[in-house]
Amino acid sequence: EHQNKSNSELIDFRKNHLGKSLSLSYKKPLKILRGSGVYLIDDLGRKYLDTVNNVAHVGHEHPRVVKAGQEQMAVLNTNSRYLHENIHVFAKELLRTFPKELSVVHFVNSGSEANELALRMIKAYTNAKDMIALEIGYHGNTNACIDISSYKFDGKGGQGAPENTHIVPLPDRFRGLYQGENTAELYSKHIDEQIKNIHSKGRNVAGFICESIISCGGQVELPENYLKLAYQSVREAGGLCIADEVQTGCGRVGQTFWGFQLHDVIPDIVTIGKPIGNGHPLAAVVCTQEVANAFANGMEYFNTFGGNPVSCAIGNEVLRVIKDEKLQENALKVGTYLKDALITLQKIFPIIGDVRGQGLFLGFELTDENKNPLTEKASYLANRMKDFGILMSTDGKDNNALKIKPPMVFSIENADELLNRLKQILQEDFMKY
Ligand code: PMP
Repeated sequence: EHQNKSNSELIDFRKNHLGKSLSLSYKKPLKILRGSGVYLIDDLGRKYLDTVNNVAHVGHEHPRVVKAGQEQMAVLNTNSRYLHENIHVFAKELLRTFPKELSVVHFVNSGSEANELALRMIKAYTNAKDMIALEIGYHGNTNACIDISSYKFDGKGGQGAPENTHIVPLPDRFRGLYQGENTAELYSKHIDEQIKNIHSKGRNVAGFICESIISCGGQVELPENYLKLAYQSVREAGGLCIADEVQTGCGRVGQTFWGFQLHDVIPDIVTIGKPIGNGHPLAAVVCTQEVANAFANGMEYFNTFGGNPVSCAIGNEVLRVIKDEKLQENALKVGTYLKDALITLQKIFPIIGDVRGQGLFLGFELTDENKNPLTEKASYLANRMKDFGILMSTDGKDNNALKIKPPMVFSIENADELLNRLKQILQEDFMKY
């Protein structure tokens, strides 16, 4: 009955009968029916180059990942209270990508669930509740995750930071409180201030959560040494440090497999989501033995779907494909090429205020000569790119940053296609200032 409905009928149904706060991408929404590699294909058979989906990590509907899921689904799917090889193989392969200190994994089903569990672990370990998090950070959709997500509680419909959340400024070297290079100390001082603030209320620090490159905040790279100083302060105060790798993990940043490794730190807890299941709901929390022991206080942690044999077969195949197809190396090669080319474009088109990111986790911001955000132009650019068959999206505090985080099979030719269209649109009248 729902097939062959026109898009306007589908939109009407959504408005009336699906969650009222769901959103749709693009002014004229797309009906996407298939995915393949770096492409999404709509109901008219039109192919779109996907430059934003970091969930379809090894490519949309990668045949090996699809097969791994299908084959296991035909044999068995059940919870992790029975012994099964898949969870062991996947856990071992996943843990091999981590420093030896991080040696225990809990499997869950979404990035939100991963951060939710990480917060519970922190509470169990520290017996404290007060968390330090970044301005415009986003960590998930559950109660506890929203409570540490300034992107939500400081945005539309939000009610500001809850009593136990302490926000520090986004360390943005382009438009932040402190600009330019060598700002790590200046920004990390705000963490020290928040620690003092927590102590002044007679409470203790539970922990600190931060992405390795800030995603929803607009693809913002952290200043060199920022995480090191932050971790030091938080640990001296007895808190634990979470690296949210839901967006940045699994080789995407190119130089390293995990984003935190770019900063030469070892978190107490790492949360993993989106890419690890290539679209299948799979996520994980990796932590130290000490944290895992503190969490195992006698109360069972049961998760109906977490660590099931189908999810583990899929996750393990994703890790194998990343390795076999050298996708981390590809992210470094294509990402470096693309970033350099964007910096060259920036010289021709000053509307590109800043270009940033690592590997295939890049972004650029549209601003005027005084660094004022050009939100409408960013939206125009994303919609105009779509007209030419290229999917992009905007984000950041002012929604003026274009995100580039495509499936990791993105090639130099794909990058050239993106760059050529960008150049063409940036020459159009509306994009001038
Ligand atoms: N952390 C980060 C950094 C995210 O970007 C997201 C999702 N956008 C989440 C956590 C939550 O993940 P999920 O939507 O899978 O629950």
